[in-house]
Amino acid sequence: QQAAAAQARPTVIALANQKGGVAKTTSVASIGAALAEQGKRVLLVDLDPQACLTFSLGVDPDTVERSVHDVLTGRADPGEIVVTCEEGVDLLPSAIELAGAEAMLLPRPGREYVLRSALEGFDTAYDVVLLDCSPSLGVLTLNALTAADALIIPMPCEMLSHRGVGQLLDTVADVQKILNRDLEVWGILPTLFDGRSNHAREVLADVGERYDLPVLEPPIPKTVRFAEAPAVGRSILATARSSKGAQAYRDVAASLLVRL
Ligand code: ADP
Ligand code: MG
Repeated sequence: QQAAAAQARPTVIALANQKGGVAKTTSVASIGAALAEQGKRVLLVDLDPQACLTFSLGVDPDTVERSVHDVLTGRADPGEIVVTCEEGVDLLPSAIELAGAEAMLLPRPGREYVLRSALEGFDTAYDVVLLDCSPSLGVLTLNALTAADALIIPMPCEMLSHRGVGQLLDTVADVQKILNRDLEVWGILPTLFDGRSNHAREVLADVGERYDLPVLEPPIPKTVRFAEAPAVGRSILATARSSKGAQAYRDVAASLLVRL
């Protein structure tokens, strides 16, 4: 039983929302760091050509020789591009060339399965894999949803910020029908939460019911500490160890731990 567990696949979690600026990348870095603090072996995958996750973990996307792009084109194995970050997590870095991946994958049969098959075999060294999606519902995000066991939808607690969630859930339903029956939606992660605002609290109360989805807890508070972290290549868990934001991400990570 134990030997079998050592070879078991990790839990693969995609953080997706086709809106930009909803804290997908911040959440991947912070939850990843929190899980690493808990002794989990964590792999993060940057699937955004803008490479914000890569940059925010201290890897310069402009000097990355080979990236996720090479994995998706079959020119490299994940093991050849993986980087270990100071944060205590491993990263498959992105680079701007990933912007060409959508067009490159489009004519290929089985294009939605490329990431899934690339991770197979490699990912057994990890307990959890977090996929940071680009702000679109294109082929890269379909690859993430096809490779994932679970989806978390980061969403700011602001009016109109949930526009588009319906469309994302339609895509998820298609993926579950055609590409990945096992994909589970774990819920909405409320981000950029201003607890002093009545409006933010109303949005938070309404959103789970509206989409019939679990709402992960606690909401992540809005704080300037998050703006500072990427510039030094570490997550807020390292730059502001005991801030409310860091603690909120640790609590969210702890709630995920029991499901891994
Ligand atoms: P996405 O990946 O969805 O585009 P990011 O994680 O890049 O979103 O976050 C967008 C911006 O919001 C970044 O400048 C980030 O520093 C900031 N941010 C994220 N979370 C918070 C927060 N809880 N409080 C304040 N600023 C935040
Ligand atoms: Mg991002």
